[in-house]
Amino acid sequence: MIKNAKIHFNNLGTPVADNFDDVYFSNDDGLAESHYVFYQQNNIESRLQNHDQSHFVIAETGFGTGLNFLNTWQCFNDHLERMQVQNECDKSVKRLHFISFEKFPLTVNDLKQALTAWPTLSHLSDQLTINYPINLQGCHRIEFNNGQVTLDLYFGDVLDSINAMSYPQAGVVDAWYLDGFAPSKNPDMWQQSVFNAMVDISRESATLATFTAAGFVRRGLIEAGFTMQKAKGFARKREMLTGFLATPNSQQSSPAYFNQDTSELKNVAIIGGGIASSCILYSLAKRGISSTLFCQDEKPAMGASHNVQGAVYPHLQAKNSPHSELFAHSFLYGKRFYNQLCTDGFSFDHDWCGVLQHAVKKPLAEKHENLEQKQLWPEQLMRSVTAEQGDKIAGVEAGYSGVFFENGGWVNPVQLVDVMLKAANNLTPFNSMFNCNIEQINKSDEGWYLISNNQKFGPFSDVIICAGEHSDAFEQTKALPIVGVRGQVSHIQASKQSSKLKTVLCHKGYFTPAYLDSHCMGATFEKNTKSRAVTEQDNQLNHKQLLSFYQQCDFATTLGKITSAKAAVRCTFIDHLPMAGQWCEPSDYTTAFANLRLGKRYQYHALNKPQQGLHIFTGFGARALCSAPLLSEHFISCLNNEPRPLSERVSQAIHPARFIVRDLIRNKI
Ligand code: SAM
Repeated sequence: MIKNAKIHFNNLGTPVADNFDDVYFSNDDGLAESHYVFYQQNNIESRLQNHDQSHFVIAETGFGTGLNFLNTWQCFNDHLERMQVQNECDKSVKRLHFISFEKFPLTVNDLKQALTAWPTLSHLSDQLTINYPINLQGCHRIEFNNGQVTLDLYFGDVLDSINAMSYPQAGVVDAWYLDGFAPSKNPDMWQQSVFNAMVDISRESATLATFTAAGFVRRGLIEAGFTMQKAKGFARKREMLTGFLATPNSQQSSPAYFNQDTSELKNVAIIGGGIASSCILYSLAKRGISSTLFCQDEKPAMGASHNVQGAVYPHLQAKNSPHSELFAHSFLYGKRFYNQLCTDGFSFDHDWCGVLQHAVKKPLAEKHENLEQKQLWPEQLMRSVTAEQGDKIAGVEAGYSGVFFENGGWVNPVQLVDVMLKAANNLTPFNSMFNCNIEQINKSDEGWYLISNNQKFGPFSDVIICAGEHSDAFEQTKALPIVGVRGQVSHIQASKQSSKLKTVLCHKGYFTPAYLDSHCMGATFEKNTKSRAVTEQDNQLNHKQLLSFYQQCDFATTLGKITSAKAAVRCTFIDHLPMAGQWCEPSDYTTAFANLRLGKRYQYHALNKPQQGLHIFTGFGARALCSAPLLSEHFISCLNNEPRPLSERVSQAIHPARFIVRDLIRNKI
C-alpha cells in the first residue's frame, strides 16, 4: 500500500517532509528555481521547436507538490500560444508528456495548501488537485488540455517503477528532472541502479538537469552513460549539474516474442463499431491521426455494446496480479475520461451510484474475505461491507455482506459510444462507413486494402480489428482463439419498492437501479452459441436467478413484467483478459521462436514482420466500459512510440502472442 508523506509547513510557508527533514522546494522563490534548474537547463523551450517527434517527454524523479510539472505545463501553454501568434504551429511539438515518480504522495489537502504559494499557477493547480490520484501503486495517466498534456504519475519507489515499465527499443524520455531530496537525506533516489534504469528508458540525445552538484551523483550518471557538466546554480547556489546522453541503451523491455510494435500511424482503418472501436478512434483523434471506421451494422454500438445500462467497476483479485493492475488502473482512468467528456459538454445517461457485490454464495463470501484480509486495495476502489451496511448503501433490504465499489456505477453504452465518436470527430474528423461488412484484408506495397462487396478501400498504413466475436472472420486472424459467450439482459418493470434501489447490485449476474422505469437484469452466460436472438427462456432464466438470491426481498418480488431484452455474443479469451497488439501469425512464431520449447532464456531476434500494420484490439467480454479506454491509450502509445501507461507484465498478459508463446513453452505446438 502507498503511504502518504508526513509533512509540515515551515515559518516561510514552505512544505517540509518530516521523514526526510528537507524542503519540497526552495525557501527563496521555488518557482523561479524550478524554472531555472529544470526547464531552462534542459533547454526545453528551444527543443519544443526542433524536435523529431510530435510529442516531447520529460521524466522527473520526485513529484512532491507537482511544482515542476505545473511550471512546465504553464511554459508549454505559453509556447503553444507563441507558436500560434507566429503562425509556426507546424514546426512545434504538439503534445507534452510528463512522467513523474513518487513514493510518498502528498495528501490532496497538503497538496492544495502547498500550491497556494503559486497563485499564478492556480488555474493549472486546480485541475491537478481535482484529478489527483488515489493511493494506488502504479501509473496514473491523467490528461489535460484535451490530451495535449499528459501526466503519467507513478506511485511507488522510483527504481521499482522504472523496472516495471514497458518501453520500446528507442526509449521514450527526452529530458530528465532529477529532484529527489538532498542526496545525503534521500540516498534511494540517487543510487547507481536508478541512474542505469534512467538510461534504459531514455532516447538518444536525452538531457538531464539537477539542483545538486554532489560528486557521487555526477560520477554515477557518467557511469550510467551521461556526459556531465557543471552549470551555475540558482541564485546564491554555486553549482548544479546537467547531462547529455549520446548513446542510448537500445534495449526494449520485452523479449522479441512479446514485441510491441511501433509504426508510423498515418491513415488507420478500424473494423468494429462498439466501445473498443470508439476508444481507439478517440485515442487516434487526440493525436491528430486520421482514421476510417468500418462497421457492418447500420449504426454504432449494435453488437455487444448495445446494453441499456452497463455496470462499471474494477474486477479485482486478492493479489497484485497483472489482471488486477489492468482493471484497477483502467477503472480509474476510465472514470476520469468519462467525467472529462461530461465537463466538455457531452451528455450520456449514467449514474456513479456505486456497485455493491453481494456475497450470495459461499465461494463469493470466501473471495470477499480474502480480498478484505489482503488489504491490497484503497477504500476508494473497494471496501468490505457488512449486511447491515450493504442494505443501507443499497436502500433495499437484502441481508448479504459484500464488497462495495463506491466510485463505480452504470453508463448507457450506446449513448456513450455516440458521445465518444462525436468527441473524437471534434478533435480530428474521421470517416465512417456503416452497413459495410469487410470480407477481406489484403496487404500490398502501398499498404492495407479492405474489401467489402467487391469494393476496395485503402490503402491504409494500419488496420485495427475491434470486431469482437467477428474478429476471427479474416483469413489472417482465423486462428484467434476467441471464446464467444452469449449473454441476454432482460428489462423488467420497476415497482415502488424496487425504485428504492440506489446502487448497482451484483450477485451472479447484475441488477441495476431503475432507469426509464425499468431495471436491467442479467445476464445469461452461454458458451458455444452464435445466436443474437432474444429468447423468452433466457428472460425466465434471468428472472429466476434474481429470485433465487432475493426470494425474501421486496425489491425483487414486487417487480412488474419483462418488457424487452437484448442479447449479444461477447468476445472473450480463456484467461479472461482482453487482447491488444500486433497480430501474430502462428506459423511465423513456431518457426522464429521454436527454441522456446527448449527454455525461455534463449536470445531471440525480432520477427521479420509480414503482418506489420495489422492489429487486434478485442476480447473485453462484459468489461469494455472499464478496461477499453486505458487499454486503447496503452495500445496507441505503443504504436506511436510514446510512454505506455501499463506495465511490461500487463503488456505481455494482453499480447496477441500470449497463447502461442505459452503453447511453445509447454511444447504443445
Ligand atoms: N519535484 C517536486 C516538486 O515539484 O514539488 C519536489 C520533489 S521533493 C524535493 C522529492 C520527492 O521525492 C518527494 O516527494 C519524495 O517523497 C520523493 N521520493 C523520495 N524517495 C523516493 C523514492 N525512493 N521513489 C520515489 N519518490 C521518492
